[in-house]
Amino acid sequence: MADIIQLLPDHVANQIAAGEVVQRPASVVKELLENAIDADATVIKLIIKDAGKTLIQVIDNGKGMSTTDARLSFERHATSKIKSAEDLFQLHTKGFRGEALASIAAIAHVELKTKQENEDLGSSIIIEGSEVKSQEVVVTPKGTSLSVKHLFFNIPARRNFLKSNTVELRHIIDEFHRVALAHPSISFSMFSNGSETFNLPESNYRQRIVNIFGTKTNEKLVPVEEATEVLTISGFVGKPEFAKKSRNEQFFFVNNRFIKSAYLNHAINSAFEGLLKDGAQPSYYLNLTVNPQTIDINIHPTKTEIKFDDEHTLYAILRSAVKHSLGQFNIAPVLDFDRDANLDTPYSYQQKGMPSVEVDRSFNPFKEDTPKVKNVTNYKKEPVTTASWESLYVGLESKGTKTNTEFSEVHFESEPNTESFFKNENEVETKQSTYQLNNKFIISTIKSGMLVIDQHRAHQRVLYEDYLRHITIKEGVSQQLLFPLELHFSMQEIALINQLKDDLESTGFVFQSIKNETVEITGVPVNVPESEVSIILEQLISDVENEVPDSNFSATDLLAKSMAKSLAIKTGQSLTNTEQEHLVNRLFACKEPNVSPTNRTTFITMSVDELEKKFM
Ligand code: ADP
Ligand code: MG
Repeated sequence: MADIIQLLPDHVANQIAAGEVVQRPASVVKELLENAIDADATVIKLIIKDAGKTLIQVIDNGKGMSTTDARLSFERHATSKIKSAEDLFQLHTKGFRGEALASIAAIAHVELKTKQENEDLGSSIIIEGSEVKSQEVVVTPKGTSLSVKHLFFNIPARRNFLKSNTVELRHIIDEFHRVALAHPSISFSMFSNGSETFNLPESNYRQRIVNIFGTKTNEKLVPVEEATEVLTISGFVGKPEFAKKSRNEQFFFVNNRFIKSAYLNHAINSAFEGLLKDGAQPSYYLNLTVNPQTIDINIHPTKTEIKFDDEHTLYAILRSAVKHSLGQFNIAPVLDFDRDANLDTPYSYQQKGMPSVEVDRSFNPFKEDTPKVKNVTNYKKEPVTTASWESLYVGLESKGTKTNTEFSEVHFESEPNTESFFKNENEVETKQSTYQLNNKFIISTIKSGMLVIDQHRAHQRVLYEDYLRHITIKEGVSQQLLFPLELHFSMQEIALINQLKDDLESTGFVFQSIKNETVEITGVPVNVPESEVSIILEQLISDVENEVPDSNFSATDLLAKSMAKSLAIKTGQSLTNTEQEHLVNRLFACKEPNVSPTNRTTFITMSVDELEKKFM
């Protein structure tokens, strides 16, 4: 029989390797930025078009390459960074596999221009799908410029797999942040579709954080410093009261390399224990320095996971260092670090509801259309089942559970009960049709048995449909604020708010201006208390960010969901009878009363039969 094994041609091998190295435009960004850093650049510029789908270019002022190296750099396993496997344990560079350029050149159109310090002329190479199209001598400044166009041009499946520009750009920005945070002494800038999105001058770590995440970040930072034999920690954690719902500001750098570690993240969470609101995430920007021989960064192809020799010790040190810093800051909030007065929160803003400001307790979610209060003093009660009630309840079937409850015949208990045994004739009767259990459930009777409604989810459903309607037909009613509300966000968050501005306006928000890091709001949707506005926007931003995996997300839907989530009455909130009834009413007037906007069951029913069985 003929031999059947053959060696894969290089370009095929490279394409396969590319699958590991390059998942999306952001992976290219990471590799190119890291190469520029390894080349000792002090100024690095990133240029992006169409979220990297059309162009990714990195220009650095680093040491450049000789003509031969320029050509060699695209060969697989071509690296100047290690010579033997042992070198892996002494790595001081980002790269070492010599795969990135070869992989990228296999799946894109690449143009390299590079020149070394003492040369008059540099080299230019154009490669498309591993094929060298041209190589010539050019005039070019010292350093390297590498542009990557038409990523995945020869792997349509991969290209089609790319997410929306919003999502891909988000990934690119994430990579950019990580690299820029790890190297505050390098100046970085980023341009997307022609406009400058970041300009980060050379600075110290604190300034770098502030330059990336916004001026307001400064007052949130608590320094963490610890030096032990096995581990040095330096950096910052965010003060607990500023914690947001998003995990966007959680950074570990180990020997200047961004890493993800659920285990170390846990250490931080445990240091923050008891200090955070529900669902809030601590922010942290921590640099850990360990002996390179005690880690293995080689276990993950994209190198964001590393293995530590002694994780338990690191955990303990990290946890106690962070705890210590938080403790110090609590005891002596004024002394914890130098404040730049210019960066402090303006008084007006402090007054106006940062995330930590407690919720307006008097806020009544039902204010909007206060129900016609039933005449509770009227002893001769009207049957609860008015025509509209009847229509609302027609159909709740006691299938026991779940979202696909079909509508069939279920009637709200309409016959007033016969006199209570114990009722004092003179007592004013306030016949209740609903009861609240545990400040969480609303219980009500229906003809076939009983109905249990989750108040939080039910209200989310009601609000969600309201907002969706407002947004779609642009009928949102706005309430004017006495004084404009000024809120502060990072540039990135501002970009998101800009994207959602139209929809937000349809719900009733009025933006006077959105610029730099400040949003000025002069009107809010009716029913939205001023104190909740920042929470709503923050929740919204976090929801949009967390939506990343879903390419076809609808901003409208997300906005409606997010606002409903923020404003729905919470579990634990006690409701008056009228409020309970009103909520039940509104729930069953919804298009899809049986599930919350996030598809969770809003109510269950239990039939008399089922109840009776329980008494057998
Ligand atoms: P690695 O970074 O793992 O060595 P790469 O494929 O990323 O592999 O790069 C191959 C080689 O090309 C590097 O080792 C380096 O010598 C050279 N190189 C890549 N980018 C640059 C750059 N921006 N400036 C100078 N040299 C570079
Ligand atoms: Mg590299």
